[in-house]
Amino acid sequence: MLRVNLQAMENYGADTGDNYWKMKFGAEIIVKGTDDRPANAMALVVNHLAENYNGDMFRYYPISWEIALEETGNNVIGVIEMPVKEAVKQSVTTDTKVTTTMMETSNGETWHSKDIEVSLTACSSCGLLWDRKWQAESCEERGHVESFPQHYGGYVENDVYKPSKTYIRKSYGRA
Ligand SMILES: [Zn+2]
Repeated sequence: MLRVNLQAMENYGADTGDNYWKMKFGAEIIVKGTDDRPANAMALVVNHLAENYNGDMFRYYPISWEIALEETGNNVIGVIEMPVKEAVKQSVTTDTKVTTTMMETSNGETWHSKDIEVSLTACSSCGLLWDRKWQAESCEERGHVESFPQHYGGYVENDVYKPSKTYIRKSYGRA
């Protein structure tokens, strides 16, 4: 999180139009969930102050900021949550076609396997090729490994998931 130290100032001449600003007390504002860009957090702080406090009679302005583990608890006037970034899910469909097997059902009870022809999809950051688009899109979440287990069905016993079937999904190499 980012802790931003603020200075409050008050205009004793606001009524008369004859400005007479005075420095008042200190305060702080917290930004949680900061990404690696303090400037992104500071931009939110400046907006927050403008929308909630800053006028002709009273203002806060940032005087310093620091990466911090906790609030000081000293006159915290706001906690801002940084919006969570959508995970980047990018994949590229290739011209390479492969034949793969999928399970099919017409009544929801009996399943049979069927061969289908699909285009391989590449993970856009590491280039690993997969025969399902979702496998390419979730490649990043798996740490770009070349194979992974996919579980089906099963039950939970003593908090342990016991799949009834596990397939090992393998990539088709790199694009
Ligand atoms: Zn990948």
